[in-house]
Amino acid sequence: MTLRFYDSASASVRNFVPVTPGQARIYYCGATVQGAPHIGHVRSGLVFDQLSRWLTYRGYRVTLVRNVTDIDDKILANSEASFQPDFAGELSQEPWWALAYRFEQVFGRAYAALNIAPPTYEPRATGHIPEMFALIQRLIDRGHAYPALDGSGDVYFDVLSWPAYGELTRQQVADMQEAPDADPRGKRDPRDFALWKGAKDGEPESASWDSPWGRGRPGWHLECSAMAGKYLGETFDIHGGGLDLRFPHHENELAQSRAAGFGFANFWMHNGLVNYQGEKMSKSIGNIITPAQMLEQARPLVIRYYLGQAHYRSVLDYRPTSLEEAKVAVERVETFLGQTLALHREDAQVPQAFAEAMDDDLNIPKALAVLHERVKAGNGLLAADQEPAQEAAEVYAMVKVLGLLELMNLGGHGAGASGSAQEEKALASIMDSLLLMRDQARQAKDWAKADQIRDALAEAGITVRDSASGSSWSLLD
Ligand SMILES: [Zn+2]
Repeated sequence: MTLRFYDSASASVRNFVPVTPGQARIYYCGATVQGAPHIGHVRSGLVFDQLSRWLTYRGYRVTLVRNVTDIDDKILANSEASFQPDFAGELSQEPWWALAYRFEQVFGRAYAALNIAPPTYEPRATGHIPEMFALIQRLIDRGHAYPALDGSGDVYFDVLSWPAYGELTRQQVADMQEAPDADPRGKRDPRDFALWKGAKDGEPESASWDSPWGRGRPGWHLECSAMAGKYLGETFDIHGGGLDLRFPHHENELAQSRAAGFGFANFWMHNGLVNYQGEKMSKSIGNIITPAQMLEQARPLVIRYYLGQAHYRSVLDYRPTSLEEAKVAVERVETFLGQTLALHREDAQVPQAFAEAMDDDLNIPKALAVLHERVKAGNGLLAADQEPAQEAAEVYAMVKVLGLLELMNLGGHGAGASGSAQEEKALASIMDSLLLMRDQARQAKDWAKADQIRDALAEAGITVRDSASGSSWSLLD
């Protein structure tokens, strides 16, 4: 078994050779918690959750770090316009840190709803100011950074001092636009970007820290380099994030970490974005879809399946019918698993073809084709009154490693899952007792009574299926 991933830096698929055998250390850029997430954010979380689960299945000890950018210009601006109840319950301007934490929790709930496992560590930028000082000082000492020429308190990365600048996105410095993150008068070159941002008039006192270069706050790119280094070491395996972060964010992370003398990431993995009917989702167009809106339309199972079914590098194009199609596909799998409960085994292995697809740059579409093919074969056996022992075990293993299992309602057997949790529980409980009564009748060879129960259930739209491992039931479509 050899895992292969597409590395954006070299633009090629390469064998995955970890820095330390048996370990996989991954950093991916998390949210700037300025507002509620849209599904593009959640897709990124889902992709790296799928990757992490697969590496774990393949025996790697995974350390996954996802940062929270809890201070930046937009957070400060949004907090000025946000009013929330204060200590006394009166509406007052929400402090930036309160707004950041409020939206961090909204992100957390969206991830949790879709069974995106929490990362190993989730560092916040504001908790790592000393690490950022150390990195900035190191860059200054090595001749790759300098305090602003205009005394603003900014510190910039000196792009022209680093000949490899542009290597991640294969651009020439001469072709690049200026970095629009500060007054260019303080810079040696307009493309230099801020590592540290001097405090400005009108900003809250709590939004800046004393530093050797004056009061200020961290630049966005620097945070990620400092936190990745702290939690994963100077050289680690995979750096990920959405495709829109490649430039300037990831290019700058790479430049400042390498210029500081660190190896940084061996692989760069970028997930594709989510479009809305062929158009890029954006606040200005007003076509943003949020996880909360999706959760009004479909179960978490359906949303996770939908967002996770495409290849991670492709664009996912959301259309109003998308969730309906995903629902039909994933509930077919759920119904099959619900009908074969007694055949699931915790130690079951995924089929070879599924594993090969996942090893090959996380080819989920190909892996899902194997999943659906096994479900179809299993349903064929059920229809012929045979026990799909191998199919059920394999489907169970695949669904588990895809992170779908915990979102399935195997007691409610899929088709019944549109009811409330309370209704489903009541139905499952009634069905348990009815099937027990029917089993007892069959054991007592009271066929008339057993058939009576079966017929009554059929009238209620419920089919009962018997196999060597016991009886199961499902709602008729
Ligand atoms: Zn980052």
